[in-house]
Amino acid sequence: MHSYDYVVVGAGSAGCVVAARLSQDPETRVLLVEAGTPDGPASMAVPPAWPSLIGSSADWGFVTVPQPGTAQVVHPYPRGKVFGGSSSINAMAFLRGHRAGYDAWAAGGATGWGYDDLLPYFKRSERAAGRDPRHRGTDGPMPVAPPRNGHPLAYVYLEAAAEAGHPTSPDLNGEHQEGVAWLETNIVDGRRFSVADGYLRPALTRPNLTVISSALVHRVVVRGGRCTGIEYSVNGDPRSARAEREVILSAGSIGSAQLLMLSGIGPAAHLREHGLGVLADLPGVGANLQDHPLAGITYSATRPVPPTANQHSDLIAMVRTRPGLASPDLQLIFLDIMYHPPTLIGPEHGYTIGFSLMRPHSRGSVRLAGADPAAAPLIDPGFLRDERDVETMVTGLRMAREVGETEALAGWRGKEELPGAAVQDDAELAAYVRSVTGPYFHPVGTCRIGDDPLGVVDTELRVHGIDGLRVVDASVMPSIVAANPNATVIAIAERAAALITA
Ligand SMILES: Cc1cc2nc3c(=O)[nH]c(=O)nc-3n(C[C@H](O)[C@H](O)[C@H](O)COP(=O)(O)OP(=O)(O)OC[C@H]3O[C@@H](n4cnc5c(N)ncnc54)[C@H](O)[C@@H]3O)c2cc1C
Repeated sequence: MHSYDYVVVGAGSAGCVVAARLSQDPETRVLLVEAGTPDGPASMAVPPAWPSLIGSSADWGFVTVPQPGTAQVVHPYPRGKVFGGSSSINAMAFLRGHRAGYDAWAAGGATGWGYDDLLPYFKRSERAAGRDPRHRGTDGPMPVAPPRNGHPLAYVYLEAAAEAGHPTSPDLNGEHQEGVAWLETNIVDGRRFSVADGYLRPALTRPNLTVISSALVHRVVVRGGRCTGIEYSVNGDPRSARAEREVILSAGSIGSAQLLMLSGIGPAAHLREHGLGVLADLPGVGANLQDHPLAGITYSATRPVPPTANQHSDLIAMVRTRPGLASPDLQLIFLDIMYHPPTLIGPEHGYTIGFSLMRPHSRGSVRLAGADPAAAPLIDPGFLRDERDVETMVTGLRMAREVGETEALAGWRGKEELPGAAVQDDAELAAYVRSVTGPYFHPVGTCRIGDDPLGVVDTELRVHGIDGLRVVDASVMPSIVAANPNATVIAIAERAAALITA
C-alpha cells in the first residue's frame, strides 16, 4: 500500500486548492484521488455550452428524489465528475456572498469564518484586474472579469433595471454588495477557466503530488478512532492508500456526506438500516442540505435573440425583497436565453428574467440508497418545503416582472408568455412558482461546521470524534451563502490549507 502525508479525496473546486497548496512544500507527499477523468468533452471549454454538460460524461448524472414543493418533479442534480469537479461544468459565475452571511456563520459559532476572516483568502484566490485592491485580489490563480463584450440584450436590461429603480453596483465582489452589475466570471480568452486550470494543472509536475483519476473512493479507513487512509477502486480493481497525517474529504456536498456515511460516520439509525457499522454517531451528516431555488418569467422577443459568447447572464442584480432586511435576499438573473421547464411550451424567440432566493428557509438531506459505494445517493434538496420561501419567490417574480415591463425593454418585448400577464394574484403566482422552480445547482451544508449536536466538523474542519479526518468543500457551510457558491468554496479551501499547514 502506498503511503502519503495527506490524502485528498475529490479534485473539485476545493480539492484542487487543497492539493495544490499542500504540495507547495516539496517535503510533503500528497495524493489526490478523483472519480472523474482529467479532461471532459470539448464543449466544456466553450462558455455558452455549459448547459449541455448536464448529463454529459463529466457529470455524475444524479437526480433529486421527487420534490413535493415543486409539483413532485424529479430534478436533474448535476455534479462535476472530472478534474475541477463542478467548477468544470458550472456557469462560471464568480461572486462572493454579502458579508452578512459569513458574519452570521461566525455569530452562530463558526469562529474564524466571518467575512473579514475570509477576505484575505478571497483575495489570495483571485486575479481581478483594475479593481480596488483593498477588497480584491490581483495576482491569485483564478482570473475573474466582467464580460468583455456584453450581449446586446444585457445593455437594455441595464437600462430596464435602472428604470425599475435598482441602483448599479460598481463591484458586487467589492464594497458595494447590492444592486445591478455586470457578472464577473472565470472566462479567459473566450474559454472556461476551471479551478483545475487555476490550481491543479500548474502543480501537476511536482514530484511530491500524485494524482489518480477514474478512481472511486469507497470509504475512509478508521483504526482506533484515527483515520489512517482510504479504500478505493479503479475499474473495479480494489486499492488502498495510507495517510500518515490526514485524509481530507473534498468530494462536495453530496460526495463527502455519502463517503462519511459509507465509512460508518453519520446518523446511527440510518447507517444500521443499511447494515453499516457505526464508528461515530453524527446525526448532522447529510442533514441541512440547502440550495437556491431558481425560477423565471419568460417573454417572447420581437426578433431572434442573438447568440452569446459568454455564459448567458452578463448582468445580475442582488436585491432586497422587503425594506428592513439587513442584506439582499434575492438574485435577479438577466438571461439572453429562455429558461423554463421543458414541459412548458415557450415562444420561438424569447428571453427569461430569472429570480432566485438567496437565503432560503427550506432544508433537505442526502441519504444513502444502500451500502454500495457506486449507488447514487438519495438527494432531497427540500425545494420550497417552507412556505416562506414560496412567498419570497412570488415577490421575486413581481420584481422580475417590474423590470420585464419597463419602457427600456419595449423594443425587445413581444409579450409575457410564462406565466402570462393574466396571472396576477398571489395564489396563482405561487402555483406557477411551484410548477417552474428548479435547482440552481448550489448544494451546501451537509457536513456543517458546529459544536452543537448537528455539527459535523469543528471550526478547523476536523470531523468530530475522528482524528486525522477533515472535510473541506461546500458541505461545511453552516448556511447557504447569498451568492453562487464557487468563489466561497475556493476561499474556504484556501483558509483550510492555511489551517492544515499552520
Ligand atoms: C451545472 C452547475 C452550474 C453551476 N454554476 C455555478 C456558477 O456559475 N457559479 C458558482 O459559483 N457556482 C456554480 N455552481 C456550483 C459550484 O460549481 C460548486 O458549488 C462548487 O464547484 C463545489 O465545489 P466542491 O469542491 O464542494 O465540490 P465539487 O467541485 O463538486 O468537487 C467534488 C469532487 O469530488 C469528486 N468525488 C465525489 N465523490 C467521489 C468519490 N466517491 N470518489 C472519488 N471522487 C469523488 C467529484 O468527481 C468532484 O470532482 C454550479 C454547479 C453546477 C453543477
